[in-house]
Amino acid sequence: MAEPIHLKVSCHACGYTIEGTARYGPGHYVQEGIPFEFIAIGKEITAKGRRVKAEAICVCPKCTVKNKYLI
Ligand SMILES: [Zn+2]
Repeated sequence: MAEPIHLKVSCHACGYTIEGTARYGPGHYVQEGIPFEFIAIGKEITAKGRRVKAEAICVCPKCTVKNKYLI
């Protein structure tokens, strides 16, 4: 079962708030809102435990600019 990661970001170009989910891991998941492309780039060990470092890419539904975020 894939893990859905909820994201809320603002578009770099027009400032529109983009909300959606990215999929982490293999398997089925339920898409909510705008689909994000999720690229894992590493892992971090913090006091709260393990955390995945990743890039998320999505297309703004308002101005169609492609945005990239570090999460
Ligand atoms: Zn935009």
